[in-house]
Amino acid sequence: MRIYFLLLLLLPSLCWSNPPVWSRTGHRVVGEVAQEHLSRKARKAVARLLGGETLAEVSNFADDIKSDTTYRGYSPWHYVNFPLDKAYTEVDPSPYGDVVTGIRKCTEVLKDPDASRDQQVFYLKMLVHLVGDMHQPLHVGRAEDRGGNDIQLQYFDRGTNLHRLWDSNLIDDYGMSYTELAQSLPRWSKAQIKAAQQGDVLDWVEEIQEVTRGVYGSVNTGEKIYYAYRYTWWDTLEEQLLLGGVRLAAVLNEIYG
Ligand SMILES: [Zn+2]
Repeated sequence: MRIYFLLLLLLPSLCWSNPPVWSRTGHRVVGEVAQEHLSRKARKAVARLLGGETLAEVSNFADDIKSDTTYRGYSPWHYVNFPLDKAYTEVDPSPYGDVVTGIRKCTEVLKDPDASRDQQVFYLKMLVHLVGDMHQPLHVGRAEDRGGNDIQLQYFDRGTNLHRLWDSNLIDDYGMSYTELAQSLPRWSKAQIKAAQQGDVLDWVEEIQEVTRGVYGSVNTGEKIYYAYRYTWWDTLEEQLLLGGVRLAAVLNEIYG
C-alpha cells in the first residue's frame, strides 16, 4: 500500500521529466528520408561514424539518454518556445539552450577537425534527432502552454494533449512502420527538394512557426478529436516529416561536402 502511494506521488514528476516526444516512428522516418538524400561523401562519413547503423536507427538516441541524469543538460535542446508573433532573434535566448542552439552546436562540433571521434558520434546522433524535433510544429511552440502540453484534449476515448497528439497519437495510430511510412510519403521533384533545403535553421523556424499557428488554431481546449482531425492534418504532418528529412540531409551534406 505504501509503495503504491509512493508511486502515485512520483508519477507526476516522472511524467514531467519525460514529456511526450515526436513519435519514435516519426524520428525514424526523418532519418530514413535523410539517408536517401545524402551526398556520397556524407553517406560515407555517416557510415564511418555510426559503424553501420543508419540515421533512422540512431534517430531516437537523444530521447533515450533523457533518463540518464548525466545528460539532463541536453533536455532543453529538443524544442524552442517563444511568442508566435515574434521572430526567434527578437527574443532573449534561453540560457539553457534550445533546438536552434543545439543544432548549431552539433554542426560546429561535426565541422571541427579537432573534435574526437566520440564527440562526433554523439553530436551526429543528437543532430539527427534535433532536426526531426524542430519539424514537429509544437516543438516550436508557446512557452505559456509548454508547446501545447497544457492544452488537454480527448483523442477518441483517451485523454491527451495537443503536444502529444502531434508527437505520437496521430502517427502511432496510423499503424505504419517507419519504413512503410517513409515509403508512403509523397515523392518530391528535385526542384521541390532543393526549394525545401534553401535557407538556414532560422528560416526553417520561421516557416515552422506558421504551421504551429495553424495547429494551435485547430482545436479548442477539451475538444474531442476523431478521425476527421487526422484526415485534415495528415498532409501537413507528412510534409513536416519530409521537410525534416531533406533538411537533415542538407545539413549533413553541407558539413561533409
Ligand atoms: Zn526529442
